[in-house]
Amino acid sequence: MAIPNITVDGSDLISMVALQTKVRYWYLEKVMKEKKICLTKQGREAAKAGAEAARIYVEEIMKLLGTVMGTETGAIILNAISASGKRLVIRPWMELESNAWAWAESFRRAVQKDNPLFIREDSPLTPFDDRFLPGSVTKHWGSFSDYVGIGGGSNAFLEYTPPIPSLKNIPWSLSGELASKPFLAPDQVLFHELTHAYRQTNGQETCVPLIGYALRYEHTDEFLAILLSNIYISETGGTVLRGDHDVAVLRPELTKPGGFFGDTPEGRSHRGALALTKLDPSIFRKLARVRSAPFNPLRDLMIESKIKDAMKTAKSFLVGSDHVRTYRP
Ligand SMILES: [Zn+2]
Repeated sequence: MAIPNITVDGSDLISMVALQTKVRYWYLEKVMKEKKICLTKQGREAAKAGAEAARIYVEEIMKLLGTVMGTETGAIILNAISASGKRLVIRPWMELESNAWAWAESFRRAVQKDNPLFIREDSPLTPFDDRFLPGSVTKHWGSFSDYVGIGGGSNAFLEYTPPIPSLKNIPWSLSGELASKPFLAPDQVLFHELTHAYRQTNGQETCVPLIGYALRYEHTDEFLAILLSNIYISETGGTVLRGDHDVAVLRPELTKPGGFFGDTPEGRSHRGALALTKLDPSIFRKLARVRSAPFNPLRDLMIESKIKDAMKTAKSFLVGSDHVRTYRP
């Protein structure tokens, strides 16, 4: 299955696995030399192991993309990335700590026009996510206009490695306890990152810091990625949903129809957060029509026509908030 403008590139693994293989041979060679046995094939074997790792990686990601594309929610997001005309490259996670992320080639083009690119590094509102925080920029703001989105969309990279039993020695994005969470399965994590990539390739990203109950989602694009991932999970039969940008479970009363955007302090905070995401109306409508997901708060909003109400709530968020004011050019 080929998806236009989306490619999977496992080549980062070639040198990593080749080196690992060489190191193993190096130990082996020492032993062999002691036993006076000659070993000459290590270079060729190492290169072969590296290429094989890259091939397996591509195969695994293509399988996961097939799973995502097989759902209504997944197809909407993947098609939106394809339709952007920008290129998304999915490649292995090469860091040591557990995570996955989507990066824009140009942050200014990835972010909606006149929206801030960065969240302040010293903000108490960003306990987990430091992806938008190159220290030199956030510590020395310089001209604010340099750090405001211009929209238009950007090429993007998505870095994620699912657990692959035959590739034990490469860094998996999530392992151990994290990988066992019912809302962090490989296709679910990939979907979450694809929603970021959708926003970046379409120039739709916003990272407005959230306050109140929605603070647990940190900023608007994480709120959206987690909300859409929960709809995706629900569509695929999952009932345990994610309740923050860490590993909390969404409280059961918020998963019921009308609960997530209900007329409660949590619901109003969620509506404000959604309004601040400035979700593209055509994608909003497509997602709201996904009937196969029992948890689909966007459908609830469309049915109740509360979108205008959500915009009002968003405005009341802006008034008197130091944080939001800081980021307005
Ligand atoms: Zn995210």
